[in-house]
Amino acid sequence: MRAFRNVGDDPFFVARGKGARIWDVDGNEYIDYVGSWGPAILGHAPKVVLQAVRDAATRGLSFGIPNPLEVEMAELICDWIPSINKVRMVNSGTEATMSCIRLARAFTGRDKLIKFDGCYHGHADALLVKAGSGALTHGQPSSAGVPPAFADLTISLPFNNAELLRKAFQENKNEIAAVIVEPVPANAGLYLPRENFLSILREQCTSSDALLIFDEVITGFRVARGGAQELYGVKPDLTALGKIIGGGLPVGAFGGRAEIMDQLSPDGPVYQAGTLSGNPIAMAAGLAQLRELERIDGWKSLEESGAQLEAAASEAIRSAKVDVTFHRLGSMFCLFFAPPPVFDLASAQRSDLEKFNRFFHGCLKRGIYFAPSQFETGFISTAHTAEDIERTAAVVSEILKAL
Ligand SMILES: *Cc1c(COP(=O)(O)O)cnc(C)c1O
Repeated sequence: MRAFRNVGDDPFFVARGKGARIWDVDGNEYIDYVGSWGPAILGHAPKVVLQAVRDAATRGLSFGIPNPLEVEMAELICDWIPSINKVRMVNSGTEATMSCIRLARAFTGRDKLIKFDGCYHGHADALLVKAGSGALTHGQPSSAGVPPAFADLTISLPFNNAELLRKAFQENKNEIAAVIVEPVPANAGLYLPRENFLSILREQCTSSDALLIFDEVITGFRVARGGAQELYGVKPDLTALGKIIGGGLPVGAFGGRAEIMDQLSPDGPVYQAGTLSGNPIAMAAGLAQLRELERIDGWKSLEESGAQLEAAASEAIRSAKVDVTFHRLGSMFCLFFAPPPVFDLASAQRSDLEKFNRFFHGCLKRGIYFAPSQFETGFISTAHTAEDIERTAAVVSEILKAL
């Protein structure tokens, strides 16, 4: 994931970060648009989160006994995301999606799973089929070590294609346990759901008695307080969360309709556990970050910063006369070195990776750090100032003209 292999270099090593900036071990400074791949929505080392971590740490690191902070976190999640009646904390996004799938299979008594090409849901066996993120970047979207018998239960379809979705349901009648989807795919670059695609997913799952799982590990708490499901008005049965919810510590969560969640042990027959799940320091960090985001109305300022970047990038693209596609949703963005439209993995893969490579290194040399892959999304934090974005746009403009 962290290798710079596909951009032909060694990665730098980061020594520290503050706000929108990071410094490598050689003392070079960068404006960071990776933000730990999404969690750092308030920027690096925000005061409120650091203080919460310190306070929690002085009271003990881990108990394996219920603690009040995990209850506060559960209440916040159920309050902000109304489709979630019950929630369970885990330690990563991978655990969250993996547990959603086991739960969906048990609840429906079916085995098959539909996912979408280029969507990344962590590294559980069933989900490493035509996956995105590092798996895609490093050329292993379907991993070795996954028995064909497992992978055969996963059907991967092109995103945004309602016809093929209907066909898959017809061909696997009464066999689909669930559809899992990033409602806004952000692991093969960034592209958006076409009008109605998410509601078509919802209707198809409902009419086929399959569960709809939204993987909101990236979009949760970022595209809106209540995630992509709030933004698009579509209610999944189960939701996977991660990244932002940990405030920079290793956390994930999953939740949904009570009757489904009641299948989890010890109430129900679906086993799930974790030694460090609900860890008090991680809960304290996540709660502090989420409450601060709400206190400062972070979503409003993220949208403003995003709009500023979009306007400046669009101008840079126009004046450089390059064939690229710029996508943005709130504080998430991606510059594809491919002509529009980009709406699924295949269209994203038309990108000119050699051009991306030169763009990436040009920016890096001038102190702007974008993810070292065409197939990742950029993240703005509330710590990015208007000057940071102006400077970024000036660099982007200069590099695009020189390409
Ligand atoms: C990062 C990510 C995951 C996996 O989360 P980890 O904490 O890295 O295991 C799952 N789904 C999506 C959409 C992600 O972006």
